[in-house]
Amino acid sequence: MNSETTQIIKKLLASPQKIVIVGHKNPDGDAIGSCLGLSFFLRRLGHKTNVIMPNDFPDFLKWLPGCEEIIIHDKDTDKSIATINNASVIFTLDFNALNRTGNMQQFLEDSDARFVMIDHHQAPEDYAVATYSDTSMSSTAEMVYHFIDALDELSILCMEVSTQLYTGIMTDTGSFRFPSTTATTHRVIAHLIEMGANNSEVHENIYDVNSLDRMKLLGVALKNLNILPEYNTAYITLSQKELDHHNFKKGDTEGFVNYALSLKGVKFAVIFIENKQDNIIKMSLRSKGEFSVNTLARKHYNGGGHTNAAGGRSTLTLSKTISEFISILPQYKNELTDAS
Ligand code: 5GP
Ligand code: MN
Repeated sequence: MNSETTQIIKKLLASPQKIVIVGHKNPDGDAIGSCLGLSFFLRRLGHKTNVIMPNDFPDFLKWLPGCEEIIIHDKDTDKSIATINNASVIFTLDFNALNRTGNMQQFLEDSDARFVMIDHHQAPEDYAVATYSDTSMSSTAEMVYHFIDALDELSILCMEVSTQLYTGIMTDTGSFRFPSTTATTHRVIAHLIEMGANNSEVHENIYDVNSLDRMKLLGVALKNLNILPEYNTAYITLSQKELDHHNFKKGDTEGFVNYALSLKGVKFAVIFIENKQDNIIKMSLRSKGEFSVNTLARKHYNGGGHTNAAGGRSTLTLSKTISEFISILPQYKNELTDAS
């Protein structure tokens, strides 16, 4: 975090504030871990804090210290609105455009609070008095660690904050394997372990909680895996019927797309998940190397994210979405078959 942003934030936090910390819609491990970590840290500095998420988060995160305090806007709307309206400072974490907060957007836009952004996605909006944006960062949770460091407060890291931040970094780096994982990330992780994060327990809590339904759904996803060798591309489909048949719960399809990306030679992978309730096909896009799924998702699928991981949606049927997807690939053929 640069010194100008640090000074603005030090001033902002010089007296006790009523702080709201917000993550993005369909929160993942990084959104939940970074928001809870920042919340517990700011409380230790004497501020009053609340974490609000636009909608519910997956069960595999529901052991994190403090997760039971999170206000879910779509479930507890009155409380969420009252808390937003009462805030003097609002931190937005792990997203950089207010339309990523779903039904909360209007209440955030109407708020008189001063905003602070901490985020690692591309193309940040300009709504904050202090913007800490760095697309080279592995995760927002790693940025919260650097934020605490910039305030010279690393000595007050506790077991809870270390665990929350460890979880955010671990989930956003695919357990420290994506290219965004740097030597600094590992140093941060080492320090978090020293300050109380139990690394092996966190891994077990997140990854060793599969239901039989989820494993069978993975079987269906793998059966539906297709490869388009001429484009070094692979994709997976899951229909609403297939999800229903396996009692789909939020988070069950997390990581499935990585199986498509793990095929030898594949540079670009997508999972298409039908959502009849919202009448959309939700897409998760992943790539290896230079090919930007962020650009592709923004251009064709009303989405975005990072170079190697992005999300988007289609309003066509599942089969039309697939045929349209296949029809746009020729424009990317050179990038996808480039030897690099
Ligand atoms: P996922 O595929 O896991 O939903 O998302 C991958 C990455 O892209 C995450 O960093 C997520 O925050 C981001 N992302 C997902 N959907 C969208 C979207 O609709 N817009 C933008 N800007 N980013 C998204
Ligand atoms: Mn993130």
